[in-house]
Amino acid sequence: MPERESKLEVKTVKSDGVVQTLCRMCDTRCAINVHLKDGVIADITPFDGHPVNQGKICPRGSAAIDQFYHIDRVTKPLKKQTDGTFVEISRQQALDEIALKLNGLKQAHGARSVGFWKGEGLGFYQQEEYVRRFGHAFGSPNYFSNDSACYNSRYLGYSLVTGFWNSFPEFPDADLILLFGTNPPICHPPFMREFADARQRGAKLIVLVPRLNPIACYADIFAQPYPGTDGALGWGLIRYLIETKSYDFDLVERYSIGLEKIARYAKRFTPEYVEEQSGIYRDVVVDIAEMIVKYRPRMSIFPGTGLEHYENGVNNVRTLASLSCLAGALDTSCGLFWPEEMDRRRLTLNDELPFLDQGPIGADKFPVLYDRRKECHSMTAMDYMLGKGDYPLKGLIISAANPAVTNPNTAKVQKALSNLDLLVVNDLFLTKTARLAHYVLPGASFLERSEIHFHPKHQMVTLTQKVAEISGVKDDYQLWHDLAQRLGFGEKYFPWENEEAVMRWILEPSGISLEKLRNHPEGLVYKPVRYKKYKTRLLPTPSGKIEFASAYLKKFGLAEIPEYIPPYHVRHSSPDFPFILTTGARKSLFYHSRHQNIARFRTVHPTAEVEIHPDDAADLEITDKEVVRVVSEIGYLEIPARVVSKSELRKGVIEIYHGWEEWRVNFVTHDSINDPICGFPLLKGVPVRVEKI
Ligand code: SF4
Repeated sequence: MPERESKLEVKTVKSDGVVQTLCRMCDTRCAINVHLKDGVIADITPFDGHPVNQGKICPRGSAAIDQFYHIDRVTKPLKKQTDGTFVEISRQQALDEIALKLNGLKQAHGARSVGFWKGEGLGFYQQEEYVRRFGHAFGSPNYFSNDSACYNSRYLGYSLVTGFWNSFPEFPDADLILLFGTNPPICHPPFMREFADARQRGAKLIVLVPRLNPIACYADIFAQPYPGTDGALGWGLIRYLIETKSYDFDLVERYSIGLEKIARYAKRFTPEYVEEQSGIYRDVVVDIAEMIVKYRPRMSIFPGTGLEHYENGVNNVRTLASLSCLAGALDTSCGLFWPEEMDRRRLTLNDELPFLDQGPIGADKFPVLYDRRKECHSMTAMDYMLGKGDYPLKGLIISAANPAVTNPNTAKVQKALSNLDLLVVNDLFLTKTARLAHYVLPGASFLERSEIHFHPKHQMVTLTQKVAEISGVKDDYQLWHDLAQRLGFGEKYFPWENEEAVMRWILEPSGISLEKLRNHPEGLVYKPVRYKKYKTRLLPTPSGKIEFASAYLKKFGLAEIPEYIPPYHVRHSSPDFPFILTTGARKSLFYHSRHQNIARFRTVHPTAEVEIHPDDAADLEITDKEVVRVVSEIGYLEIPARVVSKSELRKGVIEIYHGWEEWRVNFVTHDSINDPICGFPLLKGVPVRVEKI
C-alpha cells in the first residue's frame, strides 16, 4: 500500500477509525466498513446490519482500495497535443478551454451539436442527474448513458405491463424461484443468501440459462434454452396457465386489460413448439408450468440481462412480467413489487426544459426509449458523429463511460469518437475512450464523494460517505458546477456550492436531514413497505391496469402484445457463421470494463478467452489456450480459446467476456440490429465463425 500511495497525495477524513458507507464497485451497493490507519485506507470489510448484503462482500468490494491507490490513476487534467501525446495542464486552463470550445460549438452548430454521456464508473443516481441537468441547461437534448445497453430494456419491459420497474424480489418469501438469463453468484452475490434461506424453507428453484453457472447446480430444474428464445418458453407457460384455467382470476378480471389478445396469441406455443424454438424438452416445459400452478402466487420470476441483448428483448421481458401477473405475483413481497418513491427533489430539467422539438438523437427511430426514459440512442449517436445524422454531433463530454470498449461495432465507435471536434472524458484511468479524448479530467471514485442512494425493495435511503480525497481530483458535481459557471448558467442551474448543499436541497421535502442520514449508515426506511396497492389505487400504466396488450405501443406502430420473434441467429442462419456468440455475461472479479487493471485480479484472469464446447474445439482442431479468430458479418477478433466442459455450454454456442480493453469483443457485435422498443443492440446471439489461425 505505501508504495502505491506514495504516488498520490491522499487526505483521509480521519487518521484512524472506520467509515461506514456503501460499496460502488458494482450496482449492488453492499454496506462496507472502510478502515483507516495512520491516514491510509487499510482494509474494507462488510458492515453487519444492512439488509442488502447482510454482512458479506465479494472480492471486488475490497479491491476498492486497489482502485483508489492505483498507480495509473489520472490525477491531473490532461490535454492532447498534435502528436497524440498528452500533457498535464492546470484545472483552470482545462475548464477555461473546454468552456470556450463548448460555446464555440454552440454558436457554430447549435447547442444540440454537443452531447453528454454518463457511465457508472464514478457514481450512480446523482451523477446521472448532474449530467442530465447540465445538458438541458446548456440547451442540448442529447443525453446518453450505458443504460442504452443495460437496464433500459428490462425497465421498459416491466413498466409497459405494470407501470413500474420490478425492484428485486424478496426471494426468501418465495416457494418457487425462476431465474432466466442470470448468474446471481456473480451479478448479485447477496441473492445467494436469499436463495439459501428460501431453499431451507423448501422453495423450489428453476434456472434457465444457456450456460451452466454455479446456481444452476442447486436447481430442481436446470435447462439451457438456445440464446434469445426465453420468450417462447414464457409464452408456453402463459398458454398453459390460460388453457388449464390456472391463472389468478380475480386479479386478471378486475385489474388487467388484454387477456383475450394474449390468450389467442398463446395458442401456438404448445410444448412441442416451445421445444422446437428453445431446445427445452416438452416434458420439462410442462413440468415448469405445473410447478407454477402448484406454487403460485408465492413465486419470483427474475430475468437477468441475458434476456435484454436481442432485437426482441423488451417483449421477452414483457412476456415474463405478464406471466407473473397471471400467476398472481403482483405487488407481493416475492413477486413484482411496486416500490413507492421518497418525496424528494430531482435535479433533472426534463419538465422545466422539454426538448422534443430539438430532435433528440434516436427519438425518431426509438420513440418509446425517449418518451419513457428521456434518453437518446447511443448507437445512433455514432452516425451523427460521422456526419450521417440529421445534424452534426460535434462535441461530447463523457463521465466514467468507456464506449470504445463497451458499445457495439468498436471500429465504428473509434472512428466516430475520433471525428469529434471536442471529446472530454472524466474518469479514473486513461481508458481506450479517454485516449481518444482532447481533454481528460481526473474523476473521483466513490470513496472520494458522498451520494444519496435508494434501495426500492426496502424503501430505504442511504448516504454514502466520503472517505478520502486525492490532491487534484474533484468530484463530478464540482466539474459540472465549474463548467456551468464559465458558461453563464451556473447561478441559475448549479447554484449549490458543493455536493453537500445539493443533497440538502434534494432531501428537503422528505423530512430526512443529511445529519440524520449520516447518523444512520445502515440507511433509513422512508416509507413502510405495503403490498397489493393496486387494489386501492390505479397502476401507473396508461389504463391504470395491468396491460397484457399496450395501446401505447400500438400508437407508435409497435406490436400491442409481446409477440415472440425467433432470434436473429435463427432468422439469418448461414453456413458462413455457424456459431452463436453470446457476450455480456459477467466475471466474478470484473464489472463490465472495470477492474481488469487490478493486478491481483489479472493473476486470476490474465487474458480474455473465447469459451467453446469441447466437441466444437475438436471439430476445428483447436486446443485449449490456442489463439483463434472469431469472425462475424462486421469484424473479427483474435483471442485465446478456452475449451470448457461439455455441460458448461451448448454445442454451437461460444462466449466471450465483454469488458477487456485488449480483446474487444465488440469488434464483432452489431450496432444496427436493435430492439425496436428500447434500441438495444444485438450483443447476444451473434452469428459468427471460429477460425483456426
Ligand atoms: S457485490 Fe461486491 S462489488 Fe458489488 S457492491 Fe457488493 S461488495 Fe461491492
